[in-house]
Amino acid sequence: MRTGRANRRQFMAMAGAAALIGSGRFSAASAQAGYDLVIKGGRVIDPAAGVDTLSDLAISGGRIAAIHPEIVPGAARVLDAEGKLVVPGLIDIHTHGTIDPTSAALMLADGVTGWIEAGWQGAETVEQGIAALQDVPQKAGLLLNIGRKGVTIGTGETKDLDLADVEAARAAIAANREYVVGVKARLSQSITSDHDLEVLRRAIAATEPFGIPVMIHMGATHSPLGALLDLMRPGDIVTHIFAPPPHAIVDDAGMIIPEARAARERGVIFDWGHGTREHVVWDIAQAAVDQGFLPDTLSSDWTVSGFEAGLVAMPTVMSGALSLGIELNDVIAMATCNAAAAFPLFEGLGTLAEGSSADVAVMELHEGEFEFGDTQGTMRAAVQRLANHATVLRGEIVVPDHF
Ligand SMILES: [Zn+2]
Repeated sequence: MRTGRANRRQFMAMAGAAALIGSGRFSAASAQAGYDLVIKGGRVIDPAAGVDTLSDLAISGGRIAAIHPEIVPGAARVLDAEGKLVVPGLIDIHTHGTIDPTSAALMLADGVTGWIEAGWQGAETVEQGIAALQDVPQKAGLLLNIGRKGVTIGTGETKDLDLADVEAARAAIAANREYVVGVKARLSQSITSDHDLEVLRRAIAATEPFGIPVMIHMGATHSPLGALLDLMRPGDIVTHIFAPPPHAIVDDAGMIIPEARAARERGVIFDWGHGTREHVVWDIAQAAVDQGFLPDTLSSDWTVSGFEAGLVAMPTVMSGALSLGIELNDVIAMATCNAAAAFPLFEGLGTLAEGSSADVAVMELHEGEFEFGDTQGTMRAAVQRLANHATVLRGEIVVPDHF
């Protein structure tokens, strides 16, 4: 289990050693037996396939080969998962994993096998983000900030409306289709001043030739949330859905605003986006869940500093969702198949279906007394906590038990 921030060099050395063990020692024998790795005795949960069963899971050639109650490993490497959850590798659609080079390894240690850099870079700085993505082991893409200079000029990237530059964004997307999977528009008044609607219109315009989504950062906007949501299309994403007022997802009486239900009805995706400041209020999250308005996806809004503060890690966000009374299988779905469905980049991922890439998180569900913080400093008591135990990426154990 994680005891703190792993030193990147130590971590990569251990991950590398694990990969060598996985690919070297057993490969000849397992070729005969058919399996490279068998994850034994866990509770296999694959919401995409409706699977929740005590079972073994076999991996061969980097792909899921079988899920069966009793798989004879033969010469395959065995990963003991007794008492643990065996779930698809987690997918985090809102991170800032390109800022610090330690991010990818730290996320991998938390079971994250796919992630999105959500809008740090704009058209003028996109190359930096793409360069960072070259080195990461996971499947990863980025959302281009509609602000031409991204967040490199500090928060407030579209205060000057001229910086919300449709043509520059389109050119940057066209030149980097492999990596740019959408456009990000951060719409708080502190970022856009009073022209949030126009910034959103421009973000949408930038995506139109490419058929890719926009993700908006809601909360403390100039315009009412409903006016922003009314512009959004199926497949567009709202992040920070439990942000505090003004212009929260609930009205003054604590009721979900009708425009949010209408947006969901037409296929707009509602994403948790935990972060560290002004993004999650437990009372709002609980009110939404109590009214049946659950997030579609869970995401961390990952940064190194947020991770070190104990706020942003996918298992922590998932634990917070459990504490609201969301069912375990739904929590897993929000962090795997639902997230994968948000971007074609993750097509075929977020599931343990036979033949799919063997990206697996082996997690522990601890029972006890825990507490989790929202971003207003309010702690919430909980009786369960999820933690990652091991990560398998394309069939290799990349995160061992002890590191
Ligand atoms: Zn963010």
